[in-house]
Amino acid sequence: MTTKKEIVMSGIRPTGFLHLGNYFGAIQNYVRMQDDYDCYFMVADLHSLTTHPDTKALKANVHRVLAENIACGLDPEKVALYCQSHIHETGELYLYLNMLAYKGELEKTATFKEKVRMHPENINAGLLTYPVLQTADILLHRAKYVPVGKDQEQHLEMARNFANRFNHRYGFVFPEPQAFNFNNELIKVPGLDGGGKMSKSENQMATLYLADDDETITKKVMKAKTDSGPVEKNTPKPDYIGNIFLLMKLVSDETVINKYEAEYNACTIRYGEMKKQLAVDMIKFISPIREKVNTILADEKYLENIMQLGAGKARKSAVATMQVAREAMRLNYTETPF
Ligand code: ADP
Repeated sequence: MTTKKEIVMSGIRPTGFLHLGNYFGAIQNYVRMQDDYDCYFMVADLHSLTTHPDTKALKANVHRVLAENIACGLDPEKVALYCQSHIHETGELYLYLNMLAYKGELEKTATFKEKVRMHPENINAGLLTYPVLQTADILLHRAKYVPVGKDQEQHLEMARNFANRFNHRYGFVFPEPQAFNFNNELIKVPGLDGGGKMSKSENQMATLYLADDDETITKKVMKAKTDSGPVEKNTPKPDYIGNIFLLMKLVSDETVINKYEAEYNACTIRYGEMKKQLAVDMIKFISPIREKVNTILADEKYLENIMQLGAGKARKSAVATMQVAREAMRLNYTETPF
């Protein structure tokens, strides 16, 4: 007897080039989960419309996210790698869940408040209900695990609330989804400017993109904020220095990290040298991915086939879930569905 694999779902918006935060918060976990779980990974093109209503570059951006996922090691034969807008059932579940989501809780969401602050000219209802759409994406596959970065913790809590409300009102349909990272802790990859996080659309000089060329990587790393170094042994690191160590832990060998930790504690550290080493290790990490992305992007037909394959798998799961959800909601007035 084959045991059923646990279900995993996650997505990334096609709003620009992917960066180290997307890699370590999300994609690295996708790749590690693809053999042992039943995985649904999507390009969240509908989510991108909440902040990026101009769709001229959308197709190219969707292709890029697909290519970047594959270049990082995701196998479209093993997982369902698909486009959100190809699964029409998403809109239906989003509608039902919207009746279970309250204006007050949506307005309190940290990401909503942040976006209102940054784009006061475009506070649309889609932005307000962003966590509901995200919940629909997850519940559509009745997923248990959602590999995401730390910035998504609150959204996952909301997804659990919406799932529980549905189950409570209509009977059990949806398992509670949980945020997931292999290291047990969700990660936030910090920006190189000492504050904030790496991000697709904001603070570009502080973000390392998987598409950055070697020279750009070096330039960005060398500009990272430092100071003249600690003057007392074993002093706690200021945030911006801690961030550089964190980035080093992501891409450098342990011996390298230990060397700089020891130098920091002995007050002999030279940040210029440390950043040069970090730049070398970053280039070693990023450049093979960048080259693979370019090869994949050149083959539009391949990307088209990948999207079709993924949509087929995702739709099968979505259709099955919606049948159960509609029945639970008593929306099945006819014998044969039409
Ligand atoms: P962005 O915020 O760059 O536009 P998305 O909202 O599309 O990225 O998020 C895609 C995935 O990448 C999510 O799982 C998110 O948690 C993760 N992620 C984004 N930025 C970071 C970061 N700086 N550190 C860790 N994970 C991140």
